[in-house]
Amino acid sequence: MVLSMKNVLSKIKKLFVSLFTTIKSALFVKDIKCIACSSELDKPNKYCMCEDCFAKLPYNNGHICYKCGTNIVGSGSYCLNCKDSQKDYEFARAPFIYGGVIQTLIYKLKYSRGKYLANYLSLFLVDEFIKTDWQIDAVVPVPLYIKREKKRGFNQATLLSSQFESVLNIPVISNNLVRLKNTPTQTKLTKIERKNNLDKAFKVLDKKEFKGKNVLLIDDVFTTGATTDECSKVLKSVGVKNIYVLTLAHVKLDIPMY
Ligand SMILES: [Zn+2]
Ligand SMILES: [Zn+2]
Repeated sequence: MVLSMKNVLSKIKKLFVSLFTTIKSALFVKDIKCIACSSELDKPNKYCMCEDCFAKLPYNNGHICYKCGTNIVGSGSYCLNCKDSQKDYEFARAPFIYGGVIQTLIYKLKYSRGKYLANYLSLFLVDEFIKTDWQIDAVVPVPLYIKREKKRGFNQATLLSSQFESVLNIPVISNNLVRLKNTPTQTKLTKIERKNNLDKAFKVLDKKEFKGKNVLLIDDVFTTGATTDECSKVLKSVGVKNIYVLTLAHVKLDIPMY
C-alpha cells in the first residue's frame, strides 16, 4: 500500500515536470532558427528569418511588365509575351525573382519536408496582395495532379494560400479547380508544345461556386505563364469575373520567351 502510494506520487511528480516543461518551452521559446540558413535568431520575427537572409532576398522591385509582372529590361510597359497576346487574367505579380534564398526555400518547401515553411512564405504573398487594389472574393490555389499531390502529401499552392484565410479572412477554394493531367515541366517546350501540353489539363467541378466571383490564383513559381494562362481560361469560361495572380517568385528568362 505504501509502495503503491509512492508510485502514485512519483507519477504525479513526473506529470507535473512534463507539464511544466511544456509550458516553459511554449512561453520561453528558444532555439528559434532562421528558415533559410538555420542560424539562431535573437528574437522571433514575422518571417522567421535572420537579417542577412532577409536582406539577400531577390526582390522583384525593378522594372516589371505591367500585365504579368515579369522583370523586363528597356523602357516599355509590357514584356514580349503580353504585348502579343490577350490574357484572361487582369494582372500577375510576384514579390521575388526566382533564385538565391527564395529558390532554396521553395525547394525545401516542396521536396525536403519543408511543409512548415508555407506559413511564413504565405505571409510574403499576403503582403504583396495588400500593396495592390485588387478586390477579391476567394483565393484559388493552382491545383496539382491528384497522383502528384498524393505522392508529395500536399499541394504547395494550397499551403501558400493559408494566410489569406487566417490573416485576411478571405476564403480559400482548393477543391473546385482540378488538374486532370500530369504535365511535364513547361520550360523547355515551345509555345505550341506548351499549349498542347496543357490543353484540357484543368477543369472546374462546380461552376456555380465560381460564377460572378473575383478570384486570386496562387502558385509558387510563375515560369512561362502557360499554367496561369490555362487556369485563367478555364476560370473565365465558367463565369469568373476577374482573375488576379500571385506567385512567390517570377522566373527571369534571359532569352525572349516567344
Ligand atoms: Zn538566415
Ligand atoms: Zn508580361
